[in-house]
Amino acid sequence: MLGYISHDDCMKHDTGPLHPEAPERLDAISNQLIMSGLDYVLMRHDAPKATREQIERIHDPAYVDRIIAAAPENGSVEIDGDTVMSPGTLNAALRAAGAGVMAVDLIMSGKANPVFCAVRPPGHHAERAQAMGFCLFNNVAIAAAHALEAHGLSRVAIVDFDVHHGNGTEDAFADEPRVLFCSSFQHPFYPYSGHEADTPNLVDVPLPAGTAGPAFRAAVSEHWFPALEAFRPQMILISAGFDAHIMDDMSSLALSEADYGWITSELVAIAKRHAEGRIVSILEGGYDPGSLARSVVAHLKALLD
Ligand SMILES: [Zn+2]
Repeated sequence: MLGYISHDDCMKHDTGPLHPEAPERLDAISNQLIMSGLDYVLMRHDAPKATREQIERIHDPAYVDRIIAAAPENGSVEIDGDTVMSPGTLNAALRAAGAGVMAVDLIMSGKANPVFCAVRPPGHHAERAQAMGFCLFNNVAIAAAHALEAHGLSRVAIVDFDVHHGNGTEDAFADEPRVLFCSSFQHPFYPYSGHEADTPNLVDVPLPAGTAGPAFRAAVSEHWFPALEAFRPQMILISAGFDAHIMDDMSSLALSEADYGWITSELVAIAKRHAEGRIVSILEGGYDPGSLARSVVAHLKALLD
């Protein structure tokens, strides 16, 4: 049963009129789910708010205090050059983090699998004590830490195919041998990290501008898949960003819906071999609403197979 976690509060994170990380992204996904017929096979859940204990497995308590204190009652406040908080942001961020935690719980209790979290704000740029790149709390890292600490897993893989490097996830787990972090990203490109990793649990696949599907598939087949097979993850978490799509103006990569379907199917096969099929996928980027929504549908169809 494919679980689908979201919450109306995630629509209330108001980034302003010209910001690419807009509520319309989730509307586009919802509409495409209905048009594709997938809407009827999803088991929907409302995301709970993550608790402080769950968040503080990844973030400094003083940082969490700072974000809570910064939440405005009116208007908006800039947290970082491109990360803003509106009155609805704190609840959206708590639910986005709580969605990943709930996804892990649903899977570990046998109630759903795989599970997709349609949430915003995204999370993979958020470091231990630093908001950046539209991200406040690192949703995928908080979910992975929950799988380790609350469910006792000892090998969790995070696969991040967002076009930007998941610097926050690397920050969280660079010294954590229970986590394998596989990341592909346009390079050189924001946030200009991730290309010099020499830690064995970080598998970086930097891709030059202009990279299209065949080169992406070859690169991740060469670097990610052997690492994943050797690691034998008990759960795979996906930082599912769709901003490497050719229609997405945010980047200069040229992936397609078919590429997202392909990588998802490959990860499903690895999860079936090693992880009892357990996959949690959490939305990260994707800023062209049309291609984002079609790519999410391709992703979910592959998760269902
Ligand atoms: Zn991104």
